[in-house]
Amino acid sequence: MNKIEHIGIAVKNLEVSNKLFAKLLGESHYKTESVESEGVKTSFFKVGSQKIELLEASNPESPIAKFIKKKGEGIHHIAFDVDDIEAEVKRLIQEGFIVLNETPKKGADNKRVVFLHPKNTNGVLIELCQEII
Ligand code: ZN
Repeated sequence: MNKIEHIGIAVKNLEVSNKLFAKLLGESHYKTESVESEGVKTSFFKVGSQKIELLEASNPESPIAKFIKKKGEGIHHIAFDVDDIEAEVKRLIQEGFIVLNETPKKGADNKRVVFLHPKNTNGVLIELCQEII
């Protein structure tokens, strides 16, 4: 794994949180993107070479809606940048991690993504992401 690519934060209202994080970071988000298959609206902020991804549910069945209902707003996942997502998936399965989607899916921000079940990662949802070139 190369680095932490971004930290995902579940929020109730993207517009309100965009303003809050712009104030916090001293810079506005540089893009918003909807991922309909995941039921999320996202916005991205740069912090050095890392990013903050804000996630708002776009429907009541969205995993973000369920997360907020259960835990409230807050850190939802940590995403690691990888060079070869298929190789990492293979390696992590061998190490005993539970991969939620073995076939990488299209995520926000031009990435292919895979998620690991939080039950084997101390309760933290882990995302692997590889830039689509
Ligand atoms: Zn993410």
